Amino acid sequence: MHIVMVSAECAPIAKAGGLGDFVQGLAHELVRRGETVQVVLPLYDILRFESIRDLRVIDRGLRVPFHDEWLECWVQAGEVDGIDCVFLDPRSERGFFRRGRIYGETDDPERFAFFSRAILELVLRLDRRPDILHCHDWQTGLIPVLLHEMHPALVRAGTRVCYTLHNLGYQGVVGDSILRQVGLDPGRLLVPDRLLDPREPGAANLMKGGIVFADFVNTVSPRYAWEIRNTDQGMGLQGVLAAKGDKFGGVLNGIDEGVWNPETDAFIPARYGRASLPRKAVNRRALRSRVGLREREAPILAMVSRLDRQKGVDLMHHGIRYALAQDCQAVLQGTALDPAIEAQFRSLQQQTRSNPDCRIELVYDEALAHFIYAGSDMILIPSTYEPCGLTQMIAMKYGVVPIVRRVGGLADTVFDANYSHEPFEIRNGYLFDDPTAAGVESALRRAIWLWRHFPAYFRQLRINGMRADHSWSRPGQRYLEIYAYLLNRQPPRPAPGQL
Ligand code: ADP
Repeated sequence: MHIVMVSAECAPIAKAGGLGDFVQGLAHELVRRGETVQVVLPLYDILRFESIRDLRVIDRGLRVPFHDEWLECWVQAGEVDGIDCVFLDPRSERGFFRRGRIYGETDDPERFAFFSRAILELVLRLDRRPDILHCHDWQTGLIPVLLHEMHPALVRAGTRVCYTLHNLGYQGVVGDSILRQVGLDPGRLLVPDRLLDPREPGAANLMKGGIVFADFVNTVSPRYAWEIRNTDQGMGLQGVLAAKGDKFGGVLNGIDEGVWNPETDAFIPARYGRASLPRKAVNRRALRSRVGLREREAPILAMVSRLDRQKGVDLMHHGIRYALAQDCQAVLQGTALDPAIEAQFRSLQQQTRSNPDCRIELVYDEALAHFIYAGSDMILIPSTYEPCGLTQMIAMKYGVVPIVRRVGGLADTVFDANYSHEPFEIRNGYLFDDPTAAGVESALRRAIWLWRHFPAYFRQLRINGMRADHSWSRPGQRYLEIYAYLLNRQPPRPAPGQL
């Protein structure tokens, strides 16, 4: 199969969050299984160029119709960790991808509309027609629309689109001018069963367009799939998701064990596994010395997160204060796009500066994240909603006990030490329901109590988490089943319950 994966992110060269991890992990798994994969990304100025091998211009002739002109776009190619990557490099003065960051620009809709339009032109020029275009999130939601509206020949030839929703909190709700800019007809498309936004009168919803026109839509955990169809977590898209019938499902993400594995992790001082768990103590000491926590007999509560309302920032604050009051240590690593949230955490950082049991690291730093997972004991993830969540899976792999809110993928992967119906050897953490201070405390209190009074049982929770298979093997199989289903290639057609 020839799979072209189109995304705004791919770790390690362009990552803002879990989407980057996803594309890297799935691409590796598909290549491992012998499929042909190309990942297509914008050529951002902030790409980690040192991780791209043999980057070269392969095409200077791509011209992309955009608004009322033709924009020249170079195509570059290179290899990232065994994955073929293609980069689109618009040569226009507007410097769409020369902004020093991936997202957060006022013209994001135009930047990614251009990218989507350029992808269609690129696909027509590829040596081999893709069997599958795998698109992600609102940034590439226009691709299935453009494919059907402008290139039906590709559809007739058999190209199919799988569209994965990583977060319904960002849908790409834009004015109709964006459609005109890429050559689409708003008159035809801005209707309720196509791109018309269900909440904002007259606006186009790019994610909705992707859902309507894609051949298969999925999200990144079974529980979130249910939530977005059946509750207000669908943020207005419940109806259009329901209309997809059995062309919709939830596939739990994996984590790339080439990157996230305490037995091989090159970032951490002492490598360890289930059989050598005591070596985690070396990493705990190293973490304390790296961030400046004092050395003492206390559990370290960690948070590694985008600092965004979705992630429950107020509850993170509360968790830190509660952990400190319970004589624990806390370390938070995160970055905020929203200046108000940034200010809130700067203030917390200021207030706790002289506290040797608390560190607030407001940086994006991959190496530090590895240190934190390896050195900490518990992780708090109090999300308001969570499509999948990778940090709980990464944390478990590193023997860190997750304390999470019972939503989305968190509920699919964390099984409560006290209240789960799962057998004991599956239980791996703590859950709470209410998005309140009392909710956080109810779970955190139990975790701290266990760490203090029943260390052997706490250790068992760590081991249970480390034992779970969160590799890309199972999800890789699921995506191959979806692709095969779309291409009518091989049974079995994936049963919705299995997705
Ligand atoms: P989301 O995609 O919603 O941000 P996920 O839990 O799916 O959340 O994935 C988050 C990923 O981003 C994890 O790999 C996590 O380690 C990483 N991450 C989050 N914040 C930072 C940071 N400040 N520095 C380094 N890595 C981070």
